[in-house]
Amino acid sequence: MTLIQGRTGDWEVVIGLEVHAQVTSKSKLFSGASTEFGAEPNTQVSLVDAAMPGMLPVINEKAVEQAVRTGLGLNAQINLKSIFDRKNYFYPDLPQGYQISQYLDPVVGKGEIEIDLEDGSTRTVGITRLHLEQDAGKSIHDQDPRKTLVDLNRSGVALMEIVSEPDIRSAEEAGAYVEKIRSILRYLGTCDGNMQEGSMRADVNVSVRKPGDDFGTRAEIKNVNSIRFIRQAIDYEVRRQIELIEDGGEVDQETRLFDPDRAETRSMRSKEEAHDYRYFPDPDLLPLELEQSWVDAIRETLPELPDQKKHRFVDDYGLSVIDAGTLVAERKIAEFFEAVAEGRDAKVAANWVMGELFGALNRTDTDIATSPVSAAQLGQLIDFISDGTVSNRLAKNVFEIMFETSDDPKKIVEQRGMKQVTDAGAIEAAVDEAIAAGAAQVDQYKGGNVKVLGWFVGQVMKATQGKANPQAVNEMLRKKLDG
Ligand code: ADP
Ligand code: MG
Repeated sequence: MTLIQGRTGDWEVVIGLEVHAQVTSKSKLFSGASTEFGAEPNTQVSLVDAAMPGMLPVINEKAVEQAVRTGLGLNAQINLKSIFDRKNYFYPDLPQGYQISQYLDPVVGKGEIEIDLEDGSTRTVGITRLHLEQDAGKSIHDQDPRKTLVDLNRSGVALMEIVSEPDIRSAEEAGAYVEKIRSILRYLGTCDGNMQEGSMRADVNVSVRKPGDDFGTRAEIKNVNSIRFIRQAIDYEVRRQIELIEDGGEVDQETRLFDPDRAETRSMRSKEEAHDYRYFPDPDLLPLELEQSWVDAIRETLPELPDQKKHRFVDDYGLSVIDAGTLVAERKIAEFFEAVAEGRDAKVAANWVMGELFGALNRTDTDIATSPVSAAQLGQLIDFISDGTVSNRLAKNVFEIMFETSDDPKKIVEQRGMKQVTDAGAIEAAVDEAIAAGAAQVDQYKGGNVKVLGWFVGQVMKATQGKANPQAVNEMLRKKLDG
């Protein structure tokens, strides 16, 4: 258990997250307007989204299918009957004066996911519910000195709100939870998970307690839009609450915002209660009733999800949980790895993908989908190592050239004469030369300084332009020097 030390002893952190994920769908939840990101303000607004009098919402079947698909991916209960409610509040970017959401009867009920921690351990976090709701528009305060502008393009876009149980116990776990949710949604194709564009954001509920006590009062930090910020907001909030209580104060149940520039949270308003919203079933919408057969048909189309894949990678390929977790986080990477590992030593394949390939992709800010080195080519390079055509060391140079040129390793090795020298005669000649040139080093070696062997290896490598098989060189040197 992660405990935080305070003046009065240890504290336990309790966290529950509400993740808002924009549903991948061409049109909005109750209108046919486009959801494309980045359009000119107010160009994707139907009469329904602008809340013109007399307009009626019509549910988008695709959005419901995506919510059900997500529920299944979160191992959750799918409710065959759910209800859309009006959540009433006033805001300039909410022309209806209410948000259509789901309150007591959401489309998805209890579920659970596994989260992966840095030390290779895993934990289960409960999902309380997933409901569908409309997004609001956007108020823009920084374009006119005196006026607030409103962009309604986002108004009515379908969101899934995924609420976790208060099962999360540290900032690290909260980060791992959001990463896993994002990974699952991307595998499912139900949300692009792009936090920079606001497709996924989280409300972070934080409280502290002495171990064994009841839950403390929570503060809710609204709309945090990166995993790093989520962690920073929690770290700050935990410190603030502990100091407050230890100084004799009490945590207010309130809504706070996170200021990324100062890495601190600040009070926004006192927390509203459900009754403040005057929830009631939207009279314009019938209850949403689903057929079990329709849900089953969706279940049939689910891909293998990250946790299943991770367990399979551990069982079938003998990878560590940490490596398997890294490789399955993105579907494209998992597929790339499997193509490289096919018929080869999987651990070697994993090391190349996570080592040289990830390194080069990061360095050049390239996505795996557009990697200049294909899985087939990386596989060929690994074959060259195992059949002795190139040494491990040379293979790294070959890889660099592959990454620059997209050429096959065969072409590179042949054209540039990078084949490993395994020919015993050639190696022996270079070894003899090194020994002849190093009388002083020979004396040192014979005097018990075995480290000087490295000097001889270096000489031989220089003479063979790094192409001599290192193992053969070592064996030959020892034979000559010890004999
Ligand atoms: P609201 O809409 O009022 O924020 P929800 O039920 O939608 O309420 O969400 C409450 C969130 O707060 C859940 O993620 C839940 O796990 C979390 N939570 C509840 N109690 C606590 C607590 N004492 N400490 C931290 N998180 C909590
Ligand atoms: Mg909330």
